[in-house]
Amino acid sequence: MGDIFDQFFGGGGRGQQGPQQGRDLRTRLTISLQEAYDGVQKQVTVRRPERCPDCDGAGYPEDADVRTCPQCDGQGQVTQVRQTPLGRVQQTQQCSRCGGDGELHSETCATCSGQGQVREQATLTVDIPEGIRSGQTLRMDGEGAPGERGARNGDLLVEVEVEDHPDFEREGDDLHHRHAVSFPQAVFGDEVEVPTLDGGATFTLDAGTQSGETFRLRGKGMPRLRRSGHGDLYVTVQVVTPESLSEEQRDALEAFAEAGGEEIDVDQGFFEKLKNSF
Ligand SMILES: [Zn+2]
Ligand SMILES: [Zn+2]
Repeated sequence: MGDIFDQFFGGGGRGQQGPQQGRDLRTRLTISLQEAYDGVQKQVTVRRPERCPDCDGAGYPEDADVRTCPQCDGQGQVTQVRQTPLGRVQQTQQCSRCGGDGELHSETCATCSGQGQVREQATLTVDIPEGIRSGQTLRMDGEGAPGERGARNGDLLVEVEVEDHPDFEREGDDLHHRHAVSFPQAVFGDEVEVPTLDGGATFTLDAGTQSGETFRLRGKGMPRLRRSGHGDLYVTVQVVTPESLSEEQRDALEAFAEAGGEEIDVDQGFFEKLKNSF
């Protein structure tokens, strides 16, 4: 068992090659969107069965006396013949006395009570590739339950959950961000700074931008999983109506309304009208 892990993607289990292969085990891991952007190494701790170190999975000490199982004559299985209305039916079953080994041992391993396995806590390092999405599973080869002697271990399946981010909504490899701009910014246009998972970016807000308009920042979204390139960042602009004005701002806005030929009864719901016009 090396400490370098092959990590693959997969949904279901792989084909069962034989009955002795170890079981696949599952665990979950939560990471932030930033970590999904950057890629990250995380530790997972799992309690899993391990091959008993004292008997190497045999279930009995090496120096235990061995005798042939009398119930199956060392065959490991018992065949029963039953008479049914349809004829004779032969049924072969694993021997219950020796568990299929064909041998009985004078002692069982004290460490594992003859099970061949003990439960141990194992801490493993998982390499989470950049661009991973919620619900995707990393397969760690051979890190599941041990197989019987000579058979391969099961795998450990790590399901990754990516937390929501306060600034971004994710849609595939694209990100969406809502950004507030002022009325003058929307009117005159501006260079606007927005947060990204890569530090930040600037884009040009066109003069005359309406509230709700969306700008696309190419390549500023999530990295594409196991491929090159990034998704895009869509910035939806929200023009913010001021909730309070200084005297000077108020005068200027009144003048603005007047210049546009608007009659506004300032004392009656000035702010309501103002809000509706944006
Ligand atoms: Zn037997
Ligand atoms: Zn043991």
